[in-house]
Amino acid sequence: MQVHTEWLEQIINNSHIGILVVDRERNNLFVNDRLCEMFGYTQEEILSTNAEIFHVNHDTFLKFAELAFDAVLKGEPLAVEYQFRRADGSLFWGHIAGDPIGAENEVLWTMVDITQRIEAQKKLEDTNYNLEQYLEAIDKIGIGLFVVDEDYTTRYMNKTMISWFGNQMGKTCYSSVAGLTEPCPYCKLPEVISGKKRVLYEPTTPDGQSFEIVATSIKNSDGTISKMEFIRNVTDQKEAQKKLQEQKEKFDYQAHHDSLTGLPNRVLFTDRLSQAMEKAKRNDSKVALLFIDLDHFKEINDALGHDIGDKILKQVSQRLQGCIREEDTLARLGGDEFILILEHLVDVQDASRVATKILNALSASITIEGHTLYVSSSIGISIYPDDGDTTQNLLKFADSAMYKAKNEGRNNYQFYNESMTELAFERVFMEASLREALTKEEFIVYYQPQINASEDRLIGMEALVRWKHPSMGIVSPAKFIPLAESTGLIVQIDRYVMKKAMMQLSQWYKEGLEPGVLAMNLSASQLHQEDFIEVFEALLEETECKAEWIELEVTESQIMKNPQKAIRILQEISAIGIELAVDDFGTGYSSLAYLKRFPINKLKIDQEFVKDLPYNEEDSGIVRAVIALAEALKLHIIAEGVEKEEQKKFLIENGCKNIQGYLYSRPIEADSFKEKFLL
Ligand code: C2E
Ligand code: CA
Ligand code: CA
Repeated sequence: MQVHTEWLEQIINNSHIGILVVDRERNNLFVNDRLCEMFGYTQEEILSTNAEIFHVNHDTFLKFAELAFDAVLKGEPLAVEYQFRRADGSLFWGHIAGDPIGAENEVLWTMVDITQRIEAQKKLEDTNYNLEQYLEAIDKIGIGLFVVDEDYTTRYMNKTMISWFGNQMGKTCYSSVAGLTEPCPYCKLPEVISGKKRVLYEPTTPDGQSFEIVATSIKNSDGTISKMEFIRNVTDQKEAQKKLQEQKEKFDYQAHHDSLTGLPNRVLFTDRLSQAMEKAKRNDSKVALLFIDLDHFKEINDALGHDIGDKILKQVSQRLQGCIREEDTLARLGGDEFILILEHLVDVQDASRVATKILNALSASITIEGHTLYVSSSIGISIYPDDGDTTQNLLKFADSAMYKAKNEGRNNYQFYNESMTELAFERVFMEASLREALTKEEFIVYYQPQINASEDRLIGMEALVRWKHPSMGIVSPAKFIPLAESTGLIVQIDRYVMKKAMMQLSQWYKEGLEPGVLAMNLSASQLHQEDFIEVFEALLEETECKAEWIELEVTESQIMKNPQKAIRILQEISAIGIELAVDDFGTGYSSLAYLKRFPINKLKIDQEFVKDLPYNEEDSGIVRAVIALAEALKLHIIAEGVEKEEQKKFLIENGCKNIQGYLYSRPIEADSFKEKFLL
């Protein structure tokens, strides 16, 4: 705002305060209209002389100079009440405050006429009020008066006080306060008794009334000291303060939220984003910003009107909220623009998963007042700190990525960093073809033999899935199992593999062959399916497999995700006669206490420890320890990943004769397996 000098002039002259500036020699330099009025001089009269013109006489002028003027020049701002003389010779009282201004030791005086107040005070002093009149006056203005002796006996209460607390005179003061059995800390304050201080205290009684107390000590005629309290009921005031606070909070909320959807607005969003960035910086994690813009929203708004437009925005915001976690921030920037902050990103591609979820959620039709509408959206994604490290840049980049999405034909998402988009598409492509693979039966089961190496006898096999992709060829499970797990497809894949493998096993038994035990991998999501046992029992029946032919492999980390639940399910599995093996043993962190409680039958030494046997001392130590542990817990043991003779030798010598590994065979198709190991 620009301040004009005319304004200042008006402000100065219309003020009810008199203003005067004098120099070091007390010559008058400036005076406003109000001061001229107060004293009855013209401006010219005042400016042609010095400050003595205002004073009662020469002596009071000198005294004022000594008292006030010098102090002000020493840099002590000062306010005094002093008597002055008007042009007509009459005297009056002024409240005058001085401040040094300028570099030349000038002083700015401001003055208020307080004659009326001083006179009222004088009158009061002159009138001979007696004690009763005082007390009556105090009662009338609604102040409670309360006198307590040093031993806490209530000596006096005025009417107001009695109306609040009942007559307590003669009783101990604290007995009148609910719940108190001894003097409150405030009563004990030695400062009050010694008369050094006035204290403020704001108790709130159980019925919600608040009082403000000012206490002081008084000396009785017999020389003892009592405490006198002036008590004001401030309940209403408090109430008003509370209301004011609530109002303030409401305004605060309104200032930070969008009134239509209740979502955070741009202000709060910016704040949350910088907090998220700071947190990510500390934790070395990433933040994703998703800029979501509805497609063709303007057309809908123009065609159907703003009321319907608003209803759509509300529904959209609800759907968006359904796609995010509690810790994520969804904000509305205005119009049909939403923005989403995703924190604690483990993988940048998690952002693409959320974006896909949003696109799907918004693609379902919206019905409003009989209109069935379709609103798609375009999403732009930027990543902190990869793309930028300021809120502005991240927003700008997410916005430009959103425009890229619009250009790509809307209803899609784009990363600001294009290679991210490619990666996301690869995943999406992979996910889509993974779904297709299930219907097209592209999964096949390979079998790897498990051998009792000291007797050179087949004891069973592990079923391992392979994906025979029409163009990619054989895809290793290491490539697609993690994706299958994160999309939940693993459950179906595993059921498929199990069924295939169990049918094969039962077929071999029917042919009079002796394939031994079939080990199958059980994913965590499969393990935690509510109907797992049911499905599995049905499978046993359907494939005509006996429970004792089957072994399930679970990893330590799968169990440890939710040990209580895992124990329950594993017990059910074990109860139907299926053996359980702990896969990749040693790589997780099973506690021995749990291990004892799990109904497991076998430990499978992870290939990581087998790889460098027998030369690596640490690994040989671990392997020996695991074998000893299995013996102590009466568990079977098998080693996987055995490729070399010397590894086999070491294992046999140390008590682990069961072996699985390339030394005997890679995982192979059923026909080859039959040919090599069953005939
Ligand atoms: P895993 O259960 O630990 O399976 C053992 C892995 O070690 C297999 O890899 C196997 O081919 C490999 N292997 C066996 N002997 C040797 C050896 O001597 N040297 C070396 N270097 N490797 C050996 P694969 O088949 O690639 O499977 C990888 C992982 O994928 C499996 O690890 C398992 O966790 C998972 N998986 C495989 N099939 C399935 C399945 O049907 N369902 C589930 N849920 N997971 C599966
Ligand atoms: Ca396994
Ligand atoms: Ca393993």
